[in-house]
Amino acid sequence: MRKQAKTTINTVLIQTEVLEIHATASKDDIRKAYRKAALANHPDKVPESEREEASARFKSVQEAYDILYDDQKRHLYDTHGMAAFNGSGEPGMAGAPDLDDILAQMFGASMGGGMGGMPGMGGMGGMPGGHPNRPRKSRNEEQDYEVSLEDLYKGKTVRFTSTKNVICGHCKGKGGKEKATAKKCSTCDGHGAKEVLQQMGGFLTQQTVTCTTCKGQGSYFSPKDKCKKCKGERVNEEKKMLELYIPRGTKQGDKIILEGETDQVPGQEPGDIIFKIVEEEHPVFARAGSDLQATIEVTLAEALGGLSRVVIKHLDGRGIEIHHPQIPGEVLSPGQVLKVPGEGMPLNRTDARGDLYLVVDVKFPGSDWKPTPAMLEKLKEILPKPGKPIPAEHVDEVEYDPKANIEEFGAKDGHAWEDEDEDGEPAQCATQ
Ligand SMILES: [Zn+2]
Ligand SMILES: [Zn+2]
Repeated sequence: MRKQAKTTINTVLIQTEVLEIHATASKDDIRKAYRKAALANHPDKVPESEREEASARFKSVQEAYDILYDDQKRHLYDTHGMAAFNGSGEPGMAGAPDLDDILAQMFGASMGGGMGGMPGMGGMGGMPGGHPNRPRKSRNEEQDYEVSLEDLYKGKTVRFTSTKNVICGHCKGKGGKEKATAKKCSTCDGHGAKEVLQQMGGFLTQQTVTCTTCKGQGSYFSPKDKCKKCKGERVNEEKKMLELYIPRGTKQGDKIILEGETDQVPGQEPGDIIFKIVEEEHPVFARAGSDLQATIEVTLAEALGGLSRVVIKHLDGRGIEIHHPQIPGEVLSPGQVLKVPGEGMPLNRTDARGDLYLVVDVKFPGSDWKPTPAMLEKLKEILPKPGKPIPAEHVDEVEYDPKANIEEFGAKDGHAWEDEDEDGEPAQCATQ
């Protein structure tokens, strides 16, 4: 899966990870990590040319520590996300350096493998639950995605443009101007939510609803303080090119996950866009796991006399050629199965393949076949003879309909043949 770009998404995630550390690490550990990082980034310890950058980093380290160390702020973060720190101690705000690096320095060792490659970050969905401090993750968006068997066989990369909300780059999701401070919402007293009494089926129940005045933020900016770019919305609609990689051998029901590609919401881990693969029905091939099945049509002459030709076109366009028989006289019977090893579906991402099962359908001559009596005599001579005559004392020669339909069997007496039912019970005659 694609590596996630370093965007604000990561900033949000890092907070999460940091808080996980906080949950296990003692305050002493955090203080030590902070001291180390602060020392390494102290503006006085770097050459003049790097001073400005170091100064900003130093500030961010302090801010990150501030949130981690302070129980009250941590609680605010837990309940409101990064939005709770609008204008004051929010890390990753305007002018701050990449928070990834800061926190990697602070907690790199204790995060098991360091944060450079963000272990565990890429696997957002894969992390087991039970992180009480993790900010709420936006809901995943799941949708079916139909793919032809050809594309599942060969693998496919689909690119498409998606419009989504992205945290405003101008205000970094704050919603207000850099120096502005959000006003506490008086409607909800800064809680972002209100308790309301609702009538439900004759009972009065107390429910918590999101405050509409501040949209759940607990605070808002006055019109003049709003970020010009997002107009206080904290996010902007952006078009993004997404790439969906369908590895060869992908199966019905497999999920292709585009991590963190749903709408971004400040203070929330973005959800994943999940494509559930739906295999389109194929006119020629049927699939079961990594095996393929198809019916091949051979003429009666080929069934008896052998064939040497392409019998089917594979999913990648190759002709599959069969030479039969290997020993003269080995005929092909209707329903006979030819197994072609290694010509099935690819096994997910490997070079191994399943098998191809070719079911023989013998096409008997039609009405356009006009043999002479001599030709037929010759055939009878060549082909195996009938077995012993059926002994009977009395014999009647009868008239018959050579083009009858078996579905008429029993129909005139009110009986009809039912198809095999779902339990796999044999068909039985039902009275209607
Ligand atoms: Zn409010
Ligand atoms: Zn903005």
